[in-house]
Amino acid sequence: GYDADRALVRSLVREVADFPAPGVMFRDVAGVLADTGGFAAAVRCLAEVSAAFEPFDHVAGMEARGFMFAAPLAVHLGTGFLPVRKAGKLPPPVHHASYQLEYGTAALEIRDGVVEPGARVLVLDDILATGGTASAGVDLLQRAGAEVVGLVFLMELPELDGRARLGDHRVESVLD
Ligand code: AMP
Repeated sequence: GYDADRALVRSLVREVADFPAPGVMFRDVAGVLADTGGFAAAVRCLAEVSAAFEPFDHVAGMEARGFMFAAPLAVHLGTGFLPVRKAGKLPPPVHHASYQLEYGTAALEIRDGVVEPGARVLVLDDILATGGTASAGVDLLQRAGAEVVGLVFLMELPELDGRARLGDHRVESVLD
């Protein structure tokens, strides 16, 4: 059941202090992906929390770790998958959104025309930290014509209050 799946996933997330910078507690999900039962358990947990947002046509994943969970979730649920890419990887035409990181800026892109107008899209990433990445993803998808039905994360770091950056969008996460 959900509680057993969730406990398994939690046990497979590795915490690494002071990576990639001093003071940051990095959550490494590689062990979840590598585990025979763990990866499937993570996808089932994501499906469980995503049910609140149904129906939707696509699961959008944020490059790179969002892809690893969004693509199998889309297959599991029978929806399409939309990759939200880091800038500079896609040929034109694209939609482009820049956003602020703790140090510097980053940018995301999706292909123009890949989302049909009014398509209902669920946005997924592995970790919700400050919310900057997810908020840029929402902005892009909306500009591309999507209706963002909500956001789902494998893990949320509540102390960074990423939800505040996501306005009125509903957020569900498996772990915090
Ligand atoms: P943010 O834009 O601050 O919400 O950061 C979210 C993005 O950075 C996600 O794509 C995460 O994969 C990654 N990230 C942020 N903080 C952490 C952390 N403590 N451990 C692992 N990944 C993180």
